[in-house]
Amino acid sequence: MASHLENDPRRIKLIMELRRRGISDARVLDAMERTPREAFVAPHLRDAAYDDRALPIACDQTISQPYIVAYMTEQLRVDDRCKVLEIGTGSGYQAAVLARLARRVYTIERHPQLMEAAQAAFEKLHIMNIVPMIGDGSKGWPAQAPFDRIIVTAAAPARPDALLAQLREGGIMIAPVATPGGGETLMRYTKTAEGVEEEALLPVRFVPLREGVAHS
Ligand code: SAH
Repeated sequence: MASHLENDPRRIKLIMELRRRGISDARVLDAMERTPREAFVAPHLRDAAYDDRALPIACDQTISQPYIVAYMTEQLRVDDRCKVLEIGTGSGYQAAVLARLARRVYTIERHPQLMEAAQAAFEKLHIMNIVPMIGDGSKGWPAQAPFDRIIVTAAAPARPDALLAQLREGGIMIAPVATPGGGETLMRYTKTAEGVEEEALLPVRFVPLREGVAHS
């Protein structure tokens, strides 16, 4: 068995740290424990993979801090009936954690190079319920809509209404949205029969959501 599939003590330590910081959903903690973050970073960063911080990946992008991945996953309230859309596959780590909890995860990335690496990691870990697409995620995935849950992992300049339109009634979307004056606020949107409820969850920092497909 490959080393990343064993019960790595560093991963157990990270789970304890997440619990200490307030992540309490046992299903989320279990999904994090079963998803080796080191499989989603370059070989020279594997030793840093279990530190609770963001790390660089290719194309000048980042893999989010484990605490933020756990927090966003918990706030998204995913269960095994959920069809989830993720915008910003990046390393694929967040998608892999979600895939442990959801029925299926559709994930969109604008950098083909990142998607290739993410898909290799999904295969290595035998994760079969992720459907990838290269494209501009700010437009969502109309052919697969509606979704039960949507998670945006790049900073949106304003409330992503095009994505909210692809959310099922009763569905939840989590997205970092630019705060006037700088930085972003992690927002939770819940779609109801009456409209959209908005909650500000946490100040955060994300790489920006960009338009179009990248050519490098
Ligand atoms: N969820 C990722 C974090 C990725 S960082 C992880 O777990 O590693 C944000 C990602 O969003 C970057 O890879 C960036 O290329 C991508 N991105 C930015 N704008 C995008 C867009 N319009 N459509 C799709 N992906 C986008």
